[in-house]
Amino acid sequence: MRRVSIFGATGSIGQNTIDLIARAPEDYHVVALTGASNIKLLAADAIRLKAEVAVTAHEHLLPDLRTSLAGSGVEAQAGGQAIIEAAARPADWIMSAIVGAAGLAPGLQALKQGTTLALANKESLVCAGALMLETAKTHNARLLPVDSEHSAVFQALVGEDMAAVERVIITASGGAFRDWPVENLAQATLDQASSHPNWDMGQRITIDSASMFNKAMELIETREYFGVRPDQIEVLVHPESIIHALVGFSDGALMAHVGPPDMRHAIGYALHWPSRRALPVERLDLAQVATLSFRAPCDTRWPALRLAREVMESGGLAGAVFNASKETALDGFIAGEIGFNEMAMIVEEVLGIMSDTPNHIDATMTLDNVAQVDHLARQESRRVIQKRAG
Ligand code: NAD
Ligand code: MG
Repeated sequence: MRRVSIFGATGSIGQNTIDLIARAPEDYHVVALTGASNIKLLAADAIRLKAEVAVTAHEHLLPDLRTSLAGSGVEAQAGGQAIIEAAARPADWIMSAIVGAAGLAPGLQALKQGTTLALANKESLVCAGALMLETAKTHNARLLPVDSEHSAVFQALVGEDMAAVERVIITASGGAFRDWPVENLAQATLDQASSHPNWDMGQRITIDSASMFNKAMELIETREYFGVRPDQIEVLVHPESIIHALVGFSDGALMAHVGPPDMRHAIGYALHWPSRRALPVERLDLAQVATLSFRAPCDTRWPALRLAREVMESGGLAGAVFNASKETALDGFIAGEIGFNEMAMIVEEVLGIMSDTPNHIDATMTLDNVAQVDHLARQESRRVIQKRAG
């Protein structure tokens, strides 16, 4: 039996992971499930999967969790530290699917156990890619990509020599506003930004898809996973979301990964790696799909892509600043404090301020320094948001 834990079990990726595991309960021993405010779902899944422990991020919800788990034999825990401790419990495979920078510390803790970490939490690579990779190497742990584009690249690279890779192309659906006139974006509402044309995902990543901050983070994620130079990575707008990524080789060949937009493919590939097992995903009928279309991304519509390239150029802790200011700006947009276009303006302003302040972006990449820079960038972002809100 494989021992598995799922961090962010109540979210979109977490639930898709549980869907796969629950189909073969005899194959898995569930160690830990973690969530935040959805205690009912967390407890129900922990009981159904016979988990050792269920952890909520919120300490004030511990009594609720205890009540929901009463008599089940599942342990109840709460708080950020308890999540990190759950990541220290021995497991063979851990899904990192917490949203945001909160996923970094538990992911690092899991890597320190020398486990296999299936990484959906791209923010950890954006904030602290070098630290994640170094920790994995030191502890002989393995990182497996779960983002659909990165899983696609990973699969296209099986048996290939990295020296023959010329370029990596990650596709983007273009999100909710890909066909909107650029001048209308400033008026985009939260509801409009929260509906994705192809993928069914959590609200934050759905809005990040509309703004392309999601793809911007994936540019950085690609560099970290595959060790390619920023100028070797391209973004291609592909509205149908059927090709997830392509790898271009030195002989001119392009290897594309083609599949329906269903995250259970990338999750299942990481779950069963290095083998391939049957997965309950739709089989594509390309004659039905009929047409695939592509276009170059537009920097005016999606300034986040330019910002990500600047962040890669700066290096150091610029990724942590980028992510923290993006998360704070997204909170501001969700709360109705700022408009859709202002998210990128705030991130750009905060990156400018923080790179002019010594000892921030150029500090050594340790968990403490990343946490400190993350905290300062959030404070700075709040200040910029308040200034804009007048
Ligand atoms: P989601 O919002 O649906 O779920 C997030 C999970 O994190 C929930 O279980 C929630 O309880 C937990 N959580 C939230 N705040 C927390 C905190 N402060 N501490 C601990 N736990 C907390 O998000 P999602 O769409 O499942 O995305 C999860 C991660 O996977 C993100 O990093 C996202 O970028 C990445 N990802 C998602 C998809 C997708 O299809 N949903 C695809 C690729 C990558
Ligand atoms: Mg993706």
